[in-house]
Amino acid sequence: MTAQLIDGVAIAAKVRGEVAQRVAERIAAGKSRPGLATVLVGEDPASQVYVSNKRKACAEAGIEAEPFAHKLPATATQAEVDDLVTRLNANPAVNGILVQLPLPKHLDEERVLSAIDVTKDVDGFHPLNIGRLAMKGRDPWFIPCTPAGCIRLLEETGVKFSGANAVVLGRSNIVGLPMAMLLQRRDCTVTICHSRTRDLPAVVRSADILIAAVGRPEMVRGDWVKPGAVVIDVGINRIADATRKSGSRLVGDVCFPEVVEVAGAVTPVPGGVGPMTIAMLLQNTLTAAERGES
Ligand code: NDP
Repeated sequence: MTAQLIDGVAIAAKVRGEVAQRVAERIAAGKSRPGLATVLVGEDPASQVYVSNKRKACAEAGIEAEPFAHKLPATATQAEVDDLVTRLNANPAVNGILVQLPLPKHLDEERVLSAIDVTKDVDGFHPLNIGRLAMKGRDPWFIPCTPAGCIRLLEETGVKFSGANAVVLGRSNIVGLPMAMLLQRRDCTVTICHSRTRDLPAVVRSADILIAAVGRPEMVRGDWVKPGAVVIDVGINRIADATRKSGSRLVGDVCFPEVVEVAGAVTPVPGGVGPMTIAMLLQNTLTAAERGES
């Protein structure tokens, strides 16, 4: 069997197009342009690229980000970062606040994330948002962007959630844990795996829906996967490749050439989950702006 490829680039473009359309409709109706504030502390090159890509995507969708782009030096104090978040919380033109992680080591990440107004927490990392996601009968204000993107990919693939066995590899706060909670909310029977899980291949083989988010290059082999399973590969790992001009290439947590022969559908890396993360950030920012009016 050759699996259906789940095209994250195309699905992300669709989401971004939907957001741009709804922003245009708001503006045409005389409403405000949604605003996203970004907070970047320090000079980490990868973080600079991530924030710049997020701001560009905002501009394309008609979301205002440039006036609210904040850059603090690596030496910024906790009080300075706290104070900036407090000011952004109070600014009505700012609908969403994104603090780029990781923060420099001397800053208390948990304290900064908890200081963000939950109604502006478009990354969905505030403990109240995660807590509400975990509770029956409660809804979070926002769902973290990467797991939300995985759900959208599954929906677009036509996956039947109810009663399916879902296995999530990884239990991080930003991917694995919220992912498992989202699948459980859709009536999947969810197993969460981590570095202490015994006989991982056997557990993975039980999955109708498999989410791999471990950060281990090509760990999931073809013979771990149930024939016909839907596989979402969140991993982004750079490995050496002498045949490439750059000397390296990106691979996921799934051994794609093997898994594509067994799965029913699978995301490629790159071009699967990656593009969805920014698309869902735009969607969360628009949602924040729409809610702010009611
Ligand atoms: P973390 O390092 O925070 O978490 C990794 C998880 O995998 C942990 O729960 C860890 O278990 C588990 N794990 C590690 N090794 C093994 C193993 N050998 N067997 C079973 N479980 C294992 O990573 P993140 O969740 O932040 O990211 C995971 C991957 O997703 C990375 O490749 C990252 O680059 C990528 N990513 C991609 C995004 C995108 O937009 N596409 C966004 C965010 C992340 P334990 O808890 O026991 O330590």
